[in-house]
Amino acid sequence: MGQWAIGNGHWAMGNGHGALLIILSPFPLLKKPFSPLKKCPLPNFSFCSEKLRNVAFHAFAEAGETKEPKVRGSMLSVNVKIGRRPLTLRVAVVGSGPAGSCAAETLAKAGIETYLFERKLDNAKPCGGAIPLCMVSEFDLPPEIIDRRVRKMKMISPSNREVDINLVNEDEYIGMCRREVLDGFLRDRAAKLGANLINATVHKLDIPTNNTDPYTIHYVDHTESGAQGIAKTLKVDLIIGADGANSRIAKEMDAGDYNYAIAFQERIRLPDDKMAYYNDLAEMYVGDDVSTDFYAWVFPKYDHVAVGTGTMQVHKASIKQLQAGIRARAARKLAGGQIIKVEAHPIPEHPRPRRVVGRIALIGDAAGYVTKSSGEGIYFAAKSGRMCAETIVEMSNGGVRIPTEGDLKVYLKRWDKKYGLTYKVLDILQNVFYRSDATREAFVEMCGDMDVQRLTFDSYLYKTVVPANPITQLKITAKTIASLLRGNALAP
Ligand SMILES: Cc1cc2nc3c(=O)[nH]c(=O)nc-3n(C[C@H](O)[C@H](O)[C@H](O)COP(=O)(O)OP(=O)(O)OC[C@H]3O[C@@H](n4cnc5c(N)ncnc54)[C@H](O)[C@@H]3O)c2cc1C
Repeated sequence: MGQWAIGNGHWAMGNGHGALLIILSPFPLLKKPFSPLKKCPLPNFSFCSEKLRNVAFHAFAEAGETKEPKVRGSMLSVNVKIGRRPLTLRVAVVGSGPAGSCAAETLAKAGIETYLFERKLDNAKPCGGAIPLCMVSEFDLPPEIIDRRVRKMKMISPSNREVDINLVNEDEYIGMCRREVLDGFLRDRAAKLGANLINATVHKLDIPTNNTDPYTIHYVDHTESGAQGIAKTLKVDLIIGADGANSRIAKEMDAGDYNYAIAFQERIRLPDDKMAYYNDLAEMYVGDDVSTDFYAWVFPKYDHVAVGTGTMQVHKASIKQLQAGIRARAARKLAGGQIIKVEAHPIPEHPRPRRVVGRIALIGDAAGYVTKSSGEGIYFAAKSGRMCAETIVEMSNGGVRIPTEGDLKVYLKRWDKKYGLTYKVLDILQNVFYRSDATREAFVEMCGDMDVQRLTFDSYLYKTVVPANPITQLKITAKTIASLLRGNALAP
């Protein structure tokens, strides 16, 4: 739970719209000690823009209360007196992966009443855990979040031709992290900043028929009674669906389906000498034997490697065969390894048809923000969470107005403007280069080119596409065509 315990259902917030504060039951469950003697730093406390807990305090202070209230009625009469409190927007963020926690952090920082729902606080999302360098500084990640700094990549073609890609600048790397560590850090930070973390599974929404009535969230709280939980409800003005690829919120708001891929991954603990080889090296394998649609990988993790592959939903029956393919190709390097975990999860292939409906917005995998070709989603989840929340803060004037569907769609416009081209280019690359073993051979050959490497790494590590000068661009185009032509000859 976060710093104060509204989410446990012991007290529910006023709807905020008429400056009405309703206390449903006794106060003692506030985790922060309630201090009626604390003074508001503002001269006129009824206009104080601090969070609701402070408004509650002001209300008691004005009424001359020195004790915690015992019944709901006493608080109602207090509210009639103050009556001028600006609206405190209530936002529920469902899911605390990178998307949800980064959204909750931004909202809480702005003083918006934020509820962050997470069904499994020790969730270890099935994931390669590779993050771009820019995420470390942009999201203030401490060094201990990064288990390994990968500076070498090996691309391996269908005919087992290997191309080495090395990062030249000493301070550049691809960060490898454990999702349970990264997600835990981001979630705790959001809670420390004031988001109310609720360990609960959200399973249903009551959707209002007008623009101002609250949404009712039905959830099962696991705080005290474990998996079985206790059924509860919470009323909020806005909902952010950050609950991943199988999003319940997307279903409830009728966001429409997306095509998805299925990824399969085995965590393998290697003997020390074998692990040393993968110390700062990641491998990507392409070929019909390892993935008919994408690539297969061996990524170094904390004390083991993640070996996996992905394929489109329509080919999912072949996923185990493809996994056997990557295990066979990397067999020599994985010899003596012990499987410690097997996991599978869907990966969205494109955004959902509707990402904002009413006052509900989707972010991260729930929205469908994984890139084609690379299958990257962690950075885009965190970034979409932050951008969506920033738009809410802006459109609500810092939490004193309820944003409309049109306001929330501003987030979509900004997102599509910033990243639409990136998604398109990676989509085209996937269609061109992952089509056959011949085009995959061409792809690996191209990766050996220094200009291509610099361009690819700049756009991955920094999420900025710096256009190459026209001569370099021409060179790259010519090499691409030549590689595509040669690919047929090289394919097995
Ligand atoms: C095998 C595999 C490998 C991958 N490798 C990489 C990689 O190396 N690099 C990369 O950038 N991306 C990778 N991805 C993609 C990446 O994992 C996702 O894009 C990313 O996790 C999306 O983050 P998110 O916050 O949107 O959703 P998630 O990380 O899925 O988080 C959703 C959260 O919501 C919670 N939740 C779900 N439903 C509910 C509910 N009803 N109530 C309450 N809580 C709920 C879940 O417990 C979870 O904590 C990989 C994906 C897979 C499957």
